[in-house]
Amino acid sequence: MKYFIGNWKMFGVPKSVNILNKINLFYSEDKNRNKYRVIITPPFTLIESYSKYFKNKSISIGAQNCYQKDQFSSNTAAISSYMLRSVGAKYTLIGHSDNRSEGDNDTMLKDKVRYALKNNLKVVFCIGENKTEKKNKKTLNVLKRQLMKVLEKKFNKKNIIVAYEPIWSIGTGQIPTANELQKTTIHIKKVLKGIFKKNSPAVLYGGSVDGSNVKMFKEIKEIDGFLIGGASKTSKKFIDIIKNYYR
Ligand code: PEP
Repeated sequence: MKYFIGNWKMFGVPKSVNILNKINLFYSEDKNRNKYRVIITPPFTLIESYSKYFKNKSISIGAQNCYQKDQFSSNTAAISSYMLRSVGAKYTLIGHSDNRSEGDNDTMLKDKVRYALKNNLKVVFCIGENKTEKKNKKTLNVLKRQLMKVLEKKFNKKNIIVAYEPIWSIGTGQIPTANELQKTTIHIKKVLKGIFKKNSPAVLYGGSVDGSNVKMFKEIKEIDGFLIGGASKTSKKFIDIIKNYYR
């Protein structure tokens, strides 16, 4: 099973549902639809209405983040996994580089993962190295540390997806070479097999994925799908990625 996850970030109002209607229509008529899942993570404000709207349809709705506490707390503006699940979210991103750069550390991320799983959300755990780390050939070490500090064997790996997003690639148009990306993905899966024993969870790639570079990514069979930012805000761009992936 492959995954195409669209991360809307700070984008979208109720009428933006039109974008998802087009994606849903494409999916429902696509002969390859049994091979992949489409998940969209709109902002918090749209999760309840979109989850209701797409309840019996193909698109699943997820959140972009969750708070590191269970159920309710006294933290102003915080939103827990319990609250997200109660309005229909099925997934949540955790550890996106935007949130890491705003202060999310490994301890917080571990709690986020724990409570998300406890509240029946599937977790898309994001990891990635920055430009300097890449330049200093620290990528593999950084990724290993990010995984080992947060994920634990006792977590249900069936409900975890890992998204490898090099920070230097997010929103920049720059992407790793096929060779680099294959090596990195194999490394990530090896670390994950060490944590979970036997099988690795799915590993996605994210960072400037579009309808043309997806042709290169599809040659890397270790990649189980994509986390798509910019190109998920336009139905045509998002659909082109799926179309070209299966072409
Ligand atoms: C992201 O923010 O998760 C992302 C991958 O963005 P983009 O596709 O725009 O690089």
